[in-house]
Amino acid sequence: MAKKQFKAESKRLLELMINSIYTNKEIFLRELISNASDALDKRHYLSLTDHDHKVAKKDLTITIIRDAENRQLTIEDTGIGMSAEEMEKNLGTIARSGSAEFVAQMEKAAKNIDIIGQFGVGFYSAFMVAKKITVESRSATGDQAFRWVSSGQDGYTITEMDKDKIGTRIILDLKDDTDDEHYSEFLEEYRIRDLVKKYSDYVRWPINMEVTKSVPDPTDENATIDTVETETLNSMIPIWKKNKSKIKDEEYNEFYKTKFADWEDPAKVIHYNIEGNISYTALMYIPSKAPSDFYYQTYESGLQLYTKGVFIMDKAKDLLPDHFRFVRGLVDSDDLNLNISREILQQDRQVKALAKSIEKKIQAALEDMLKNEREKYEKFFDEFGLNLKYGIYKDFGLHKDQLQDLLMFRSSSEGKYVTLKEYADSMKDGQKVIYYACGKSLDEINKLPAMEKIRDKEYDVLCFLHDIDEFCVQMLREYDGKQFQSITTADLDLDSEGEKKAKEEKTEENKDLLGALKDSLGDKVKEVRISSRLKDDPVCIVAAEGPSLDMERYMANEQNAMFGTVKANKILEINPDHAIFGKLQEVYREHPEQLDDFADVLFQQALLIQGLPIEDPVSYTKKITEMMIRTK
Ligand code: ADP
Repeated sequence: MAKKQFKAESKRLLELMINSIYTNKEIFLRELISNASDALDKRHYLSLTDHDHKVAKKDLTITIIRDAENRQLTIEDTGIGMSAEEMEKNLGTIARSGSAEFVAQMEKAAKNIDIIGQFGVGFYSAFMVAKKITVESRSATGDQAFRWVSSGQDGYTITEMDKDKIGTRIILDLKDDTDDEHYSEFLEEYRIRDLVKKYSDYVRWPINMEVTKSVPDPTDENATIDTVETETLNSMIPIWKKNKSKIKDEEYNEFYKTKFADWEDPAKVIHYNIEGNISYTALMYIPSKAPSDFYYQTYESGLQLYTKGVFIMDKAKDLLPDHFRFVRGLVDSDDLNLNISREILQQDRQVKALAKSIEKKIQAALEDMLKNEREKYEKFFDEFGLNLKYGIYKDFGLHKDQLQDLLMFRSSSEGKYVTLKEYADSMKDGQKVIYYACGKSLDEINKLPAMEKIRDKEYDVLCFLHDIDEFCVQMLREYDGKQFQSITTADLDLDSEGEKKAKEEKTEENKDLLGALKDSLGDKVKEVRISSRLKDDPVCIVAAEGPSLDMERYMANEQNAMFGTVKANKILEINPDHAIFGKLQEVYREHPEQLDDFADVLFQQALLIQGLPIEDPVSYTKKITEMMIRTK
């Protein structure tokens, strides 16, 4: 029979599994049981919501069968099962969004074999211990059963088979024992019992296995005989229903990693139980790292929803506000109807109340982290801060009051993160507004001409390193009664009375020169004027009212071309104390025909310093070269 081939990515993952020298191979059992448990959840739900698929709860089980003679370990469930297409799709390709990332990580760090265990790579991890895997399955919604067989990389086959019971049976032909690896240990009763206790105790379906027990021999008082009975190995209490004080950190983390397919411990666990108008238990996690697709459209957020312990749906979006969409976890409420659908979820009053309550708890957890675990919070902010900023911008700023105190920006003076409150509290006497500057790095911002004067005053500036930042403060408008102001706006108002007067005089003296420069530049600028903000730099550009320079820069970026172009109303400022100013006066007096070139070059330079594109780089460089040649 023709073998089907695995997709390239799956093949690589398989290869990693088959050749793995990872010592913690035991986790394969946790992964298979977790899949079985999910399948049972789905069948249970179907049974409760569809009369045609009724099944007694007691018939929903996981069974582990050890067959030492044939070196086979079987994990069987009476869950939802798979059709041939589902086998093809689910077992032939990597389903987990994290798996591709895992492969990349593994290949990067060939020696870092530890991450297999942290990650949990699902079904494929069984290839660490099995040389052949057979999956026999019958879907609850079909009438034909199928057998999927694979010995690894060379592909798999799918054939029809007879199987009465709905559900899935996974048969592992264990690898041969070697000096280092005793795969046959996975056929030992005590070993499986320990593994189930260690990793799968909380699974809410019985994990049954035949065990041997010694019982008194009825015919001989002093003797015992061995009998075989079926025992449920797990306590079946879901972790979120356990008493918080009895749960160890490792247990929380282990559960998170298996359930949500992450390979890093979460940054924070939020676990609580609420009794009230709507009673529920929530177990939520803030991940340490943003998934690689987090900032893409394809990322699906949401919490798992359980009602009275019955799994209802995965990724219920309406339970999480968008600004907290990084949270993963589950909610179990006794007050919701089992038949709740995604559509109803959107409108249901109780669900809205539930979502509000969840949001408050997440908010409180973040505030607590910011207050008491600063370092952790900063790491969190590096990963998910952008999402909070989008949250402020979204819905016309509806959530700004709630979210503004969770924001942080880098401070220009120290480079460290500061919150808006910290900034506002440490503002200098006489400082009226909150200054910000946009740029790609702290260094770039600190080199902006407009920073000089600000530094002299010892004012701090918030560094906006992301495009969204400026949009975000435009939405905020002010914080604690203080307005936000870009340091590249026209009227910074930092001058003393004396400075103002000196500037007026200089402007009056050089009225004709400034007018000539403006005429030369035409529409490119609104005004050419004397600057009082520059110290070492010759020129700078600031924006009059209207769009800011940073907005222009953002829109000039190709990706944002769809928004059209936006031009700031530019003002060219010249430093009257810079040597170039004397030169300009001289050129204007003695070689007015050269003034156009000077005006143009200075203007282009100012654009460059500001990080704005110049119109014609070729003619610009040509002019510079000609000027150099003319220099005596
Ligand atoms: P994940 O569980 O993260 O999706 P896996 O590789 O472990 O990744 O499994 C892939 C998919 O195969 C599952 O999502 C599920 O659809 C299907 N699957 C695996 N085991 C079973 C099972 N015992 N019963 C039904 N479906 C299963």
